[in-house]
Formats: sequence, structure tokens, C-alpha cells
Amino acid sequence: MSTLAGNYHPLDIEIAHAQGTWVTDTRGNRYIDCLAGYSALNFGHRNPELIAAAHAQLDRVTLTSRAVGNDRLEPFADAITTLTQMQMLLPMNTGAEAVETAIKTSRKWGYDVKGVPPHEATIIVAAGAFHGRTTTIISMSTDEQARAGFGPYTPGFRVVPYGDAQAVRDAIDDTTVAVLIEPVQGEAGVIIPPEHYLTALRETCTENNVLLVLDEIQAGLGRTGATLTQELSGVRADLTTLGKALGGGIIPSSAVVGRADVLGVMTAGVHGSTFGGNPLACAVGIAVAKILETGYFQERARTLSPVFSERAKDYAGEGLLSDVRCIGLWMGIDVPHLTGRQVSERLAARGVLAKETHGNTIRFAPPLCVREDELHTVMDALGEALRA
Ligand SMILES: *Cc1c(COP(=O)(O)O)cnc(C)c1O
Repeated sequence: MSTLAGNYHPLDIEIAHAQGTWVTDTRGNRYIDCLAGYSALNFGHRNPELIAAAHAQLDRVTLTSRAVGNDRLEPFADAITTLTQMQMLLPMNTGAEAVETAIKTSRKWGYDVKGVPPHEATIIVAAGAFHGRTTTIISMSTDEQARAGFGPYTPGFRVVPYGDAQAVRDAIDDTTVAVLIEPVQGEAGVIIPPEHYLTALRETCTENNVLLVLDEIQAGLGRTGATLTQELSGVRADLTTLGKALGGGIIPSSAVVGRADVLGVMTAGVHGSTFGGNPLACAVGIAVAKILETGYFQERARTLSPVFSERAKDYAGEGLLSDVRCIGLWMGIDVPHLTGRQVSERLAARGVLAKETHGNTIRFAPPLCVREDELHTVMDALGEALRA
């Protein structure tokens, strides 16, 4: 019997080494990594600039706790707020913690600033969303597998259909403090909302004195061809959660960025984290900001996107795919007649790592350093997997 808890059903592959777009398993097989750690590896495995920043920091100081300051913390907050054009940053570690922080901030803002009666704050969320695995976050999930058996659930959430701005308008009342939404739903299978969805949510939130909270933990930091996906709609959220690629594929690192007057409700002692804002994560985060500042990876995501979308559309035309959704270097496909699991196993046998998000949906999210010919290799392998 394994000593490892069985809360995952991974492909039967053990990775031993990785560089850039490629991973090598313990049997010596090489794969193009279209998982990229759920987009934590946007800048590639062992990106040289990020590894150098981590090494340099390992030789100075790695952890202080927030009981004292550290000389990487303010530069990290400066770098990420400048990059994202936000006013303030609160550092945490995992994505779920950033979402929890956004929920707590929204509720406290609701009570302290908006004047919602104590314990009555509500937050509107979307069906099909994924925001993490804590007890509060699974309380608002519509995924039965993620919820069942973990009650009692945290109250204070209203679930509306994704992509429907009118449903959000209808759900708002005087107790509503925030609308918490993914700009593109990642775990749901790269679900892209209608064109004016985010703009409509922005207007509705402003009109009703409700915070717009966008979860960019998976969509942000280059994946969709922009630093933040909200930029593609010309929208600025009041709070934005970041994670995954913020740690450069090296260390867990997350943050809430946004309006200073909103994050300002988090005064000394009301919230915190032992590891949040640690010097190592900050040093890597500063290097992540430097990389994204150049726009290089965002540009690659935009220019290489058609390789995915056009070739996938060809397969859809042949009836091999029942749906294709693509934005930047992020693609969700639905396969008829096969399970996602079957396709991901066939892809692995052909040297491509990709995994079903659920049922018959598979997501492709290669590191943004992937080359055009490598993307064609991925799409060739997909064609073979679908026909096999
Ligand atoms: C992955 C993810 C999270 C949770 O991040 P963890 O680091 O796994 O806790 C939250 N929101 C979105 C949109 C995600 O994709």
C-alpha cells in the first residue's frame, strides 16, 4: 500500500528532470509539457533568469516572517503593482489563500465602508468556477466532487451562470459586497465569456457599489497574451488575485493586488501568513515582473495562438472535436466518443503531456517559451490520438 494519499489520479509518469518546454521521466522518455503546472510554469521549467534570482536569494536570506521586514518585500510589491498598474499588494502563498484573502477583504470592506449589517455580506460567484480547495471556497463551488462530504458549508455566496451579466445584476442586493469571477474559466476547460461580459460586470459593480474581484491565478501573467486577462477587455478590477506563475514554477507565491482604499481595510493584525512575502518568493516574483515587463511572453502567446486554434478547428471540421476554445496559448477541447483520460493517455504515449480537466474536456497550456514547430508536434500528436 502506498504511503501517499490518493487525492489525485495522475498519469503513470514520474518526472525526473525538466528544462524549458520539455520534461523527462524516470524511464528516459521526453515529453512536451502542455500542463505547465496548471500555468505555474508559464516562463518554462527552470527559466534561467528565475533560477538565478532564486539561487542568489538562497545565498542571502530565505525566510524572516512578517514580524520583521525584509529587503525584498517592498521591491516585490512595487514591481508587481507597477507591472499590473495596481495600487497595493498583499502577499500570500497559494492561490486558494489569495482567494480567501480577497473574500475576507471584500467582507470587511462591506462592513467597514459600505455599511452592510454584520454577518450579512454576500458574494456573487459563477457556476463552474474554480477558486481553490479550502472549506470556504468549496462552499461556493458547483462541482459536486469538490464539495460532497466536506460540509457544513460557509454561507454568504450566491451562484449565477457564468457569462451572463444580467444574472449578476439580478443577484445583487444591499448585502452584496463583491462579484468574484474568473476572466476565463480555467479548470472548467478554458471557458471564454461573451465579449462584453467583463465590461458589463465592471459597470454593474460600479453602479451598485460592489467590488469586482477577478481571479487571474490561472488566466493572468501572460497565458492569454496579456499581463492580465482583464486588460483585453479594458477593465480594471477592484481586487485581482494572482498566483501560480507568480512563483515562477519555483515556489508557491500568491497575492491580492488592487485598490489601496479597499486593501486598506486589512490593518495590522487582522490577517496574515507565516510564509507570505518571504524573501525567496519575493526575489522570484521581482524576476517574474522583470520578464513580463518586456512583453515578450505575452507577445508569443498572441502570435502562436493561431497554431492551436486553426489546427484545432481543422480537427473540429473533421468531426474529431466537438468544441474548441482558444485564447493566447491556452486551449480547451471537447472530444466526442472518447474520454479526456483516453486522449491524455494517448497523447502521453506520443510524447505530449496534457490532461483532462473533467469528463471529455482536455486543456493545453504549454510554457510560453514553446516553439512553433513544437506546437505543430503537439497538434500532430493530438490528431493521431483522436484517430487512433
Ligand atoms: C489554481 C487556481 C486556484 C487555486 O490555486 P492553488 O495554488 O492551487 O491554491 C484559484 N483560482 C484559480 C482560477 C485557479 O486556477
